Amino acid sequence: MKLLSAIVPCYNEEENVADFYAEFMKTEDFFQKKDIELELWFINDGSKDHTADEVKKLNDKDKRVHLLSFSRNFGKEAAIYAGLEKANGDYVVFLDADLQDPPSLLPEMFTYIEEGYDSVATRRVTRKGEPMIRSFFARMFYRIMKKISKTEIVDGARDYRLMTRQVVDAILSLPEYNRFTKGIFGWVGFETKWLEYDNIERKKGETKWSFWKLFVYSLEGITSFSTAPLAFAAFMGVAFCLGAFALIIFTIVRKALFGDPTSGWPSLVCIISLISGVQLFCLGIVGQYLAKTYMEVKRRPIYLVKEEI
Ligand code: UDP
Ligand code: MG
Repeated sequence: MKLLSAIVPCYNEEENVADFYAEFMKTEDFFQKKDIELELWFINDGSKDHTADEVKKLNDKDKRVHLLSFSRNFGKEAAIYAGLEKANGDYVVFLDADLQDPPSLLPEMFTYIEEGYDSVATRRVTRKGEPMIRSFFARMFYRIMKKISKTEIVDGARDYRLMTRQVVDAILSLPEYNRFTKGIFGWVGFETKWLEYDNIERKKGETKWSFWKLFVYSLEGITSFSTAPLAFAAFMGVAFCLGAFALIIFTIVRKALFGDPTSGWPSLVCIISLISGVQLFCLGIVGQYLAKTYMEVKRRPIYLVKEEI
């Protein structure tokens, strides 16, 4: 008998937990025929509602359902990591609790694993039901990432992924604190089959990602998987030095030919403000990386457990 573990990060998903369980268990027959047992890990990411109680209700009826509650909200990336640590399965899959990742796709995903793929990932090809401005910035983010990072990060990729034990262990071997999972999947490599589907809107409740949260997350992605901004800062430094050098020559020549030392105050102010701005900007870029390094060297745990069932 083999085991498939499903990891479900939950943050305030009390309305969705029972629906999700029902939907997920529809795949039970399929996996039974393949001699595969199922196990479910709900990772309660510090929910402020009754998510934990809903999971406990399920656990009373079905011992294949497990609960891991964090001591506070640590974020979805932490929940994914915790799930990977807890999962015992030969195969592991992540799904969102809001049914945006349809469990009905699992049998098809599994057939690709049988064919020999190490992992089967999904991406949505449309962004139906999403605010226009959000889609626009998301597209921009992926376009920039493609240019500046060597790690492949796929546009529209969801965290809905089925993988073998080998891939799970590879991901767990990356102990970093700043976890940008989309990048980590690409970084570990392995043969991945991509399935595409139209965006499905969440069943109940609201999205936990505000625009601001997504923006910060995208910066996380950039600093975690590319050092191009640092090179950009250095490039700006060189460019401005060259500009300044040209200006010095120009000023000396002008003084020698026309002897006009005092005029030019307004242009001086403009140049000083521009260059100070660029300096602060580049310092900010360096600061971002320093902050990440600072968080990494602290070696704090990625999550803290309050309760495990
Ligand atoms: N989630 C989480 N911790 C968070 C935010 C979200 O565990 O801090 C979970 C959430 O419960 C859901 C999944 O991550 O199962 C995806 O979140 P959501 O549906 O809000 O994101 P969206 O689908 O809108 O990108
Ligand atoms: Mg969702």
